[in-house]
Amino acid sequence: MQIDTQITIPSLVRIKPGALERLGLYLARAEYRQAVLIASAGLDDTLVQTALRSLDTHDIRVVQQTAVDDATFERATALFADFPPGTQAVIGLGGGKALDTAKYAAFLAKQPYFAVPTSLSNDGFGSPQASLTYAGKRRSLACRIPSAIVIDTAVCLQAPDALWWSGVGDLISKVTAIADWKLAFHAAGAVVNDFAALLSDATVFQFIARPAHDLDGVGLLGTALMLNGIAMEISGSSRPASGSEHLISHALDTVTARPRLHGLQVGTATYLVSRLQGQGTARIAQVLDAVGFWRGIRADPFSKAEWLEAVRLAPTVKPGFYTILTTRDCLPEVADILDTDPVLAECFTG
Ligand SMILES: [Zn+2]
Repeated sequence: MQIDTQITIPSLVRIKPGALERLGLYLARAEYRQAVLIASAGLDDTLVQTALRSLDTHDIRVVQQTAVDDATFERATALFADFPPGTQAVIGLGGGKALDTAKYAAFLAKQPYFAVPTSLSNDGFGSPQASLTYAGKRRSLACRIPSAIVIDTAVCLQAPDALWWSGVGDLISKVTAIADWKLAFHAAGAVVNDFAALLSDATVFQFIARPAHDLDGVGLLGTALMLNGIAMEISGSSRPASGSEHLISHALDTVTARPRLHGLQVGTATYLVSRLQGQGTARIAQVLDAVGFWRGIRADPFSKAEWLEAVRLAPTVKPGFYTILTTRDCLPEVADILDTDPVLAECFTG
């Protein structure tokens, strides 16, 4: 076992209302004067203008500004190649696609990266990986954790409810991910990093204690998702953040006619997997209930047939990745749960 690992953590973390208006100050304090801004295409222009005004106030020159509407390796490498000379920092502003593109381009350029998410729909903004497609195929590429994480809780609170539910769904998945990790240790000798597992577990408990959709609740969710990124960095793997519930969601992405938000799929799969694992079910159901997650799913139910196919395919998504789905053929149990579980009633059609 490797026990002497070098890890990176963000040097600056600001999670509070009004943080976006202070973005320029954060760069100025770090003595960065020239930055590239990569924002989501279609992002509310007032947010872009707030960022630009703040940078201007603090004499930070935006040497390049790009709007990104996809998350591809090709785009990230092209951006990296085009960074103007003198660039000292890269800012990613908006949703997951722009942030992953900016994170990877900054990594290639060895530039400090400021992650400024405007919604908290998953834990990707602070992870040491970028989810990009390469030649049309989705890849999870290793890169650096952001140098700075700036979450304006007032901005994130304004994001649509579905993004909030998705963020909570991705957070709660740590309950089943950690259980799968421990299972993999006992059954297949997978290396468990105790500190990362503990950290990941603790983030869920912090949020569960107060799952309210207000400024403090958004702050807790942002903190928890960020710490999950750090847990991945500490363990050098995605294990603290991702288990069989993520395998099901990834498989679903390939079979479904209409993929939904990552955390909506993952949150539902987490509940399902907890039933298979025989642990955590009540806690997971309670949190998802408290934030209105199931209301969102019932308003636009999943297809039962697609989910059964996804569960069948899930163990093949990541060969050698031991989870509860490896222990037995779970398909008959899942079919039964989808038919009879009271929490999942009206969450599936067909
Ligand atoms: Zn996730």
